[in-house]
Amino acid sequence: MPDALAPSVTDVVELTRELVRCESVTPREAGALQILEKVLASLGFRCERMDFTQAGTDDVANLYARIGGDGPNSDGTNSGKHFCFAGHSDVVPVGDLSSWTIGPFAAELSGGYLFGRGAADMKGAIAAFTEAAQRFLARRGCDFGGSISLLITGDEEGPAVNGTVKMLKKLAERGETIDACIVGEPTSSKRFGDMMKIGRRGSMTVDMVVRGIQGHVGYPERLDNPIHRLSALIDALIREPIDSGSKHFQPSSLQFTTVDVGNKATNIAPGIVKARFNTRFNDKWTSKTLLAHLTERLERANAALGGNGVFELKAEVSGESFYTPPGPLSELVAGAVRDVAGVETELSTTGGTSDARFIRSYCPVLEFGLVGETMHKVDEKSAIADLKTLARVYETVLDRYFAA
Ligand SMILES: [Zn+2]
Repeated sequence: MPDALAPSVTDVVELTRELVRCESVTPREAGALQILEKVLASLGFRCERMDFTQAGTDDVANLYARIGGDGPNSDGTNSGKHFCFAGHSDVVPVGDLSSWTIGPFAAELSGGYLFGRGAADMKGAIAAFTEAAQRFLARRGCDFGGSISLLITGDEEGPAVNGTVKMLKKLAERGETIDACIVGEPTSSKRFGDMMKIGRRGSMTVDMVVRGIQGHVGYPERLDNPIHRLSALIDALIREPIDSGSKHFQPSSLQFTTVDVGNKATNIAPGIVKARFNTRFNDKWTSKTLLAHLTERLERANAALGGNGVFELKAEVSGESFYTPPGPLSELVAGAVRDVAGVETELSTTGGTSDARFIRSYCPVLEFGLVGETMHKVDEKSAIADLKTLARVYETVLDRYFAA
């Protein structure tokens, strides 16, 4: 319960537990931002709720908190460097509750781990950054020559419409700029610190409708079976790889996720069939050039079949691919991981999308956080030792970023 929390709780493990106990499945806030706001306000952060609504989408609560400097000056410039930690307080649903061996919102500690939905993705990182900021501020005071902010959305695991995008826009509109940003996604792969993300593949989902001519299966000359047509079209998309990867990225991938016919009759070939695929594409493409390429493949295959069958495509792009070349920010974080955890960090572009795809238009951004092995799974967990180490890494990053 938010009100029962002492505002001074900044211990990474205890704060993670408080946050995990909030059932903040997108788009529910469930008290998570309230807790965070209380803790950050007690550290001196100026907290601002940025709640957004848009027709056709759920209302979403977000929190922006900043300390140091004076924020934006009246002439639109900023006082000193501004370091931002971006994250999300929402979590994915628990899925099959009976498969969990520990309650997903119980935040229990067991065998050196903190269990619960969001422990890894990514309430643990939010708590770690909060502890890091608290330690940093305790040593340096609020006058450290710059400012630190937390940009926490409740809409990352959902449509991501009423969260980071609108928060960044609002900051830009009032002249607040960010100089560097870490997103606290669980980027570590096998062991803490082994990986950070400096780019991500793009993601595009395409709905296909294939139309033929419905007819009696006994009279194949009178029909044009869209299922057969679709099978040739699928083959045209998956037979040859889309590309062989690029310098910094894996090959682009294309996976069909569903084929829907819904035909109950045994003696009728349907007139229409629907299918859907998703592509994760590298920096050789934009969603537009890739869609054009795939359409061309399909047109060729469709023409080769003859007949009157047609197909339609409807694409939804959830993010373009992006890549931040290694530079001062990645060196800063890799150095902190090396010195705190003794681990060499691989700079990677693998995995799904994250809100870094929005932030990269504003400032250098990378993602670094806990081990993501159990994210979105049952029995999600984080090693307690990792939570503490992450707080130290973030603290070291702040120290070096604001080195006098
Ligand atoms: Zn996440």
